[in-house]
Amino acid sequence: MELWVTEYQTPALGYSCKISETLRTEQTDFQHLSVVVTEQFGRMLLLDGMVQTTEKDEFVYHEMITRVALNTHPAPRRVLIIGGGDGGTLREVVRHPQVEEGVLVEIDDRVVQAARDFFPDLSCSFDEPKARVLIADGIQYIKDHKDSFDVIIVDSTEPVGPAVELFSAAFYQNCFQALKNDGILVVQSESPFFNADVIKMAYGGIKQHFPITKLYLANVPTYPSGLWSFTIGSKKYDPETLSCEDEGNARYYTSEVHRAAFKLPAFVRQIIEAGE
Ligand code: SAM
Repeated sequence: MELWVTEYQTPALGYSCKISETLRTEQTDFQHLSVVVTEQFGRMLLLDGMVQTTEKDEFVYHEMITRVALNTHPAPRRVLIIGGGDGGTLREVVRHPQVEEGVLVEIDDRVVQAARDFFPDLSCSFDEPKARVLIADGIQYIKDHKDSFDVIIVDSTEPVGPAVELFSAAFYQNCFQALKNDGILVVQSESPFFNADVIKMAYGGIKQHFPITKLYLANVPTYPSGLWSFTIGSKKYDPETLSCEDEGNARYYTSEVHRAAFKLPAFVRQIIEAGE
C-alpha cells in the first residue's frame, strides 16, 4: 500500500508527496503538527496540514528570508525572529558574522521540540551562545520591546489561528517601534499566484509605516505555486543596495540573486500597486 500526504493549496488544488513514514502527529495547544518522511523532499513538517519546511528545499526560504535584510543593514547586531520554531531562520541569523544576538519568539513549544527531535540541520543553533529561544506570543513580545532591534524577521505560518494578527497594520506599526531608527523588517508574504490578498495586506500594511517598502521573490518548490514572496520595510537602507557582499556558504543566495529577486513580473507589480 502506498501512503501519500496532500496539502490542499487551494480548495481546487492538492499537492501530494509519497511518504514512507509518519514520525509524529499531534494536536498542540495551537495547531495540528505532523512530521512525515517524504521520498522526494526528505523529512517534512506540516502545521494544520500546510507544509512548513522540508529537509531538501528549506535552504531557499531560510537563506532568502534572512540574508537579504542582513546584507542590506550595515550592522545587524540584534535580530528578532517571530515564529520560525523550526530553527532554520535562526541558524542563518546566527551564522551571519555581524550578528551578536538572535532572539527567536515562537508561540508553540511543540514546534521547537519537533525540530529538536527530527530536524537537526534546522535546530542546530538553538543552543548557540548567540541564540535565545523564547516560547511566547510574538504579538505581545513586540509590544513590550521598543527601539531594540536592527532587524526583525517574521517567519510565520499562513494568516490563520495565532498568526492572523502577524499580518495586520497594527502589528507592523509595533514592529516599526521595536526597531532602531535604521532598522529593517522582513516578513514572508505568501504566493503571488494564490495569495494576492495576503500580499496586498502585508505590503499595504508595511508601507503605511516604513518609508522604503519592497517585495522580492524566491522559488520554493514545496510552497504553494512554488513562487514565494517576501516583503521588506526599511527605515533607512534601500534593500536593493547591498552593504555586504558576503555569500557565506549559501546554496541559493548570492549577491546577484539578492539584486535580481527585486525584479518583479508584471502581474506581481500589479498586485502590490493595488495594495498601495
Ligand atoms: N517557513 C514557514 C512557512 O512559510 O510556512 C513558517 C515556518 S515556522 C514553523 C512558523 C511558526 O510561526 C509556527 O511554528 C507557529 O507556531 C509560529 N507562530 C504563529 N503565530 C505566532 C505568534 N503569534 N507568535 C509567535 N509565533 C507564532
